[in-house]
Amino acid sequence: MKTAVYPPVDESAILAADDAMWDQFAAQRKASAAALPALDDATLAAMDADPFGDGPLPKPKKAKKAYDPGTAGAITRIGPGLYVVSSWRNPQAAPYQVNLGAYEGHGSCTCPDFEKRHKGNGTACKHLTQAKEEASRVCLIKALSLPLERLEAQAQREDLRPEIHAAVEKALRVRVVTQRGYARV
Ligand SMILES: [Zn+2]
Repeated sequence: MKTAVYPPVDESAILAADDAMWDQFAAQRKASAAALPALDDATLAAMDADPFGDGPLPKPKKAKKAYDPGTAGAITRIGPGLYVVSSWRNPQAAPYQVNLGAYEGHGSCTCPDFEKRHKGNGTACKHLTQAKEEASRVCLIKALSLPLERLEAQAQREDLRPEIHAAVEKALRVRVVTQRGYARV
């Protein structure tokens, strides 16, 4: 592509331009505008619809309504690793049952979302995530209340569910830090 080279601007000519010259420029502009073919409304509308001559504009996609996940509802522990979790969007609906131990510790839920999108691939629906968080919270409280020796013994076990193991490790770190005198004041 050739690069256009413009002559240097002669500022003195611009500064020297008197009113007569400006009138002349204006007349020239007017004449060139008049020389353009007159565009009727139909032509203008067609140009608007297809400004680059590359076909009509694609129709704007309908904005998808943002998905509302609702808010976390009631959660009840009904057994080791078993929880009953309310529907987030419809608390009146039958609650879902979450089993943290299912699928080799990845957990399961009886909601349609889990059935459709999460079953067997290690991912979690919001109810399963909620139950995991609840389990971690309760486990940590329990682990923090254990005497240090029992906590250390628990940490050696390899048969603990992941959320319990994580809580034991966390509690142990808190204890060790506390015993070394790094405890928060
Ligand atoms: Zn679920």
